[in-house]
Formats: sequence, structure tokens, C-alpha cells
Amino acid sequence: MPVYFIGEDENGCSPIKVGVAKDIGRRQSALQTGNPLELRLLGWITSADDFRTERDLHQRLASRRVRGEWFHIEPTEVLPFLVEAGERGFVAKNADAFEITGYDRDAVPEYLGVWEWADLEIDECCPFCGCLCGMRFQEASQMYYCIQCDALTDFSEPFPDDHHGPDD
Ligand SMILES: [Zn+2]
Repeated sequence: MPVYFIGEDENGCSPIKVGVAKDIGRRQSALQTGNPLELRLLGWITSADDFRTERDLHQRLASRRVRGEWFHIEPTEVLPFLVEAGERGFVAKNADAFEITGYDRDAVPEYLGVWEWADLEIDECCPFCGCLCGMRFQEASQMYYCIQCDALTDFSEPFPDDHHGPDD
């Protein structure tokens, strides 16, 4: 089961709850019930030993504990844990992740990105699945590849956009 990071989406998305859930979406809805503040999933870590991962995180954050599994930390403090988990770490994708903000020297588009609290490059974080394995450049295909979600792209095609279907 994944270890999730869910923050109260106000006051800089803090405090943040660190917990384990089989279905993060359902857990988030359950937590939302009875919480007047909008909750927001920041990211998660998949782990074979989830309760140990959770316990380790709780211990490392012990001095920041607010109550129960809630900690007085900011999203920028969650990121290192996700990065540390590598291909097991995921950031919850920003809805506008594929908005192009510019082009680099090699004409590779730069996107708004998946994580609004830090600028993550394509090789650090896959913009398709949010995995911190990042995308690797494949010489053979001359495209970028994600080992986690199998996305393969040279960034020349328009991206699947969750919000604007072909009908609108
Ligand atoms: Zn991916």
C-alpha cells in the first residue's frame, strides 16, 4: 500500500498528514468528510513494507507533529522524501502540468510541471505519471522514456489533456 501525503490546501498546504491507505482517493474523501478545509493530495510512496516506511517518516518528522498523523511541514519538505524514494516516489500531478512555459536550448518544451512548489525537470519527474524516476533519453528512438508508465515521447506531439477533450 502507498504511504500518502495529504495537506490542507490553505495556508501553504500545511499541515500535512502522512498515512498509509490502500486506496488514496477513498482515504482522501473520508478525511475530507468533516474537514472544513479543502484537502489536497501532494504525493505518495509505494512500498513493500508500507507501515515501516510510514513509521520511519513519522519518526523523522516527530518534532513537527501537530496531532496524530498530521505534521507541521510544507510541501517543499515532502519533496525530498519523494525524491529519496526514486522510482517508488510520486508527486500528485498538477492539473496544468503540460502547459508550455518555454523552450530550452534544444527546443525541448518546458512545462509548468507536475509540482507547483518546485521546478522539476523532465529527467527528475515524469510529467505523465508524476514518478520521480524521471524520463530518460533513449538514443535508439531519440525519445524520452519513463520506466514507470512506459510513456515514450519526443515532445513533438500534443499531450493528452485531462480537461479539454476532442469535443470542446
Ligand atoms: Zn511516467
